Amino acid sequence: MKFNTLLIHGGKPFDERTGALSYPIYQATTYRQDGIGKHRGYEYSRTANPTREALEKLICELEAGVRGFAFSSGMAAISSVIMLFNYGDEILITKNVYGGTFRVFDKIFKKFGIIAKFIDTTDLDVVENAINNNTRAIFIETPTNPLLDVTDIKEIAKLSKKYEIITVVDNTFMTPFFQRPLELGADIVIHSATKYLGGHSDVLAGLVVVNSKELAEKMHFIQNSVGAVLGPQDSWLLIRGIKTLGIRMERHDRNAREIAEWLKGLPKVRKVYYPGLKEHKGHEVMKKQCSGFGGMISFELDDKDEVEKFISRLRVIYLAESLGAVESLISIPAQMTHASIPQEERLKLGIKDTLIRLSVGIEDVEDLKEDIFNALRR
Ligand SMILES: *Cc1c(COP(=O)(O)O)cnc(C)c1O
Repeated sequence: MKFNTLLIHGGKPFDERTGALSYPIYQATTYRQDGIGKHRGYEYSRTANPTREALEKLICELEAGVRGFAFSSGMAAISSVIMLFNYGDEILITKNVYGGTFRVFDKIFKKFGIIAKFIDTTDLDVVENAINNNTRAIFIETPTNPLLDVTDIKEIAKLSKKYEIITVVDNTFMTPFFQRPLELGADIVIHSATKYLGGHSDVLAGLVVVNSKELAEKMHFIQNSVGAVLGPQDSWLLIRGIKTLGIRMERHDRNAREIAEWLKGLPKVRKVYYPGLKEHKGHEVMKKQCSGFGGMISFELDDKDEVEKFISRLRVIYLAESLGAVESLISIPAQMTHASIPQEERLKLGIKDTLIRLSVGIEDVEDLKEDIFNALRR
């Protein structure tokens, strides 16, 4: 099956008993057993729930993996993956990863002796030089937030294989519609499904897909032991969201390409970051490993005073955290998502106070351009 068909016919596309084309929400925690030790595959919903399983099967097929897992948030998914590691293990990680990922490594898992080394994963020499006897994994996010740095997944996976460690990819920004890390050699793919996969700003969820039976057993053990599972209602919402992922991603991508190119020509705009632009540092790698460039754009304004005025004048584009939804959302990383990082550190990462991040929605692009134009002009 081709991808758009799989989005609709993958997983458990209908209820076996009734034929219902919307998979039932099994709002149940426990299941009547036929006899002691004789059950029908379900005992308790932390271990397995049919609706969650339908979603897990679907994401597994979309990412071309061995088994999928659904969690209560992207952070729950990431935390559960980190629990694969032991005291003393080192993980190399993209230096400007999602703030929550940085925080969970720095403030939580450090206490348990799991060491994260934040490095520039776009530079393969830097990565290879950082590998030592304790390194167990390379954790990459590509493209990153908010500067959209691109890491070569295939090359990182090759390095991992050479040193017998694993590659983990946070694929939130691209989704399997544009980028399938397991096919490029990665071992684990993670999603904040809260973003594009859900797509409607109404469900918080995380997904993980692994590429081997061994990792599948370990992940299931962690999922069942720790219990940060996704509920059946939210699992259903996500299955519903995923059905339209293809047409949404195409539109996000088309709108973003047009806006990025157009923004470059505006007088008050200094720099535009979008991996679809030819001059973007990661453009060639993106072309190699993705079938689109996605809907995330960042840009800098000339001066700091302009930023607040600009934001306050927008009418169609909402000021909000999060991304990947049908509606366009804008944020100021220095004051919002990256506010917890000291200014000096932020500047080192290239996140200026004048930087604006735009999650381009699927509205009519003319309305988005007009909104930006009017907010900048006055
Ligand atoms: C939002 C996000 C997360 C965290 O996911 P939640 O669902 O908010 O817990 C992780 N990685 C990336 C890239 C994200 O954008």
